[in-house]
Amino acid sequence: MLSEANYLLCGAHAMLLTCAFLAWPWMARRLRLPRSTWVLLLTLTGVAAAANIACALLLNRQGHWLGAVVVGLSCLAVGVWPGLVLRRMIPTGAVSAERRVLAVGAHPDDLELACGATLAKLVDTGHEVHGLVMSHGQRGGHGEVRGTEARRGADAIGMRSIEVLDLPDTQLAETGDAMVRAIEDAVRRYNPDMILTHSANDHHQDHSAVHLATLRAARRHSSILCYESPSATRNFDPSVFVDVTDHLPSKLHAVRQHRDQAGKPYMTGDRLTSVAAFRGAQARRPLAEGFEVVRFVGLDGEEIR
Ligand SMILES: [Zn+2]
Repeated sequence: MLSEANYLLCGAHAMLLTCAFLAWPWMARRLRLPRSTWVLLLTLTGVAAAANIACALLLNRQGHWLGAVVVGLSCLAVGVWPGLVLRRMIPTGAVSAERRVLAVGAHPDDLELACGATLAKLVDTGHEVHGLVMSHGQRGGHGEVRGTEARRGADAIGMRSIEVLDLPDTQLAETGDAMVRAIEDAVRRYNPDMILTHSANDHHQDHSAVHLATLRAARRHSSILCYESPSATRNFDPSVFVDVTDHLPSKLHAVRQHRDQAGKPYMTGDRLTSVAAFRGAQARRPLAEGFEVVRFVGLDGEEIR
């Protein structure tokens, strides 16, 4: 026998399900839960939806057709409105055409440190971002942990995917052909509109090796920009800037996922904010990230802003 409590339970289930469905990007971005937690939540709400349907069928069989209608409508009405309100707050879809971006890095924390705010902004404005990392950084920390942290950082940014390869840390220059093949493969898979990679003006031998490998692999590609790692030399000279005033917190949060590297001086919020303020001053914006251009073709009048 179904009591009023069942009705309330069904309503709560329906609200949870609909809210989760409509407001997924907003919640995923701001609540910053790991992907596995979201999968668990969605599974639970899916089970709840099935329970709702079962309740409605049971009520109907017992002749409580009004109750069945109430449960059915609760699937829509209870959850739609808060879901839609939350959805209005999602900044995605600001562009008319979704673009794909491939960011290539040498070590698990490189993308977050160098261009994490730009990647977060691209995601928030409706673009699709994929990451490719060449090594687990096992010489500079715990390889397995760093691989996991790379995925956490990518989740914090909202990247569609991240692939961490197992090429030898600090010796990437000796694996040029393997890196080229991996980047070519990623370019074929994602067909990116833009590729981001390390700069040639970088002290770290792995970073400059990845830069060269990207240029070789993307030799037929139109748009390649180079981001600024903490190890960039004084010759790093950006001419493209992205205003990241609203997205620096996302970058700092993503960098904080790399606990294995915590304590390194370039990992601190103060240092990252200072670099963003310096590049912002150059770009006449409060905070910015700078990029060197290998070549760049505008995205049909819709450049990243
Ligand atoms: Zn690195």
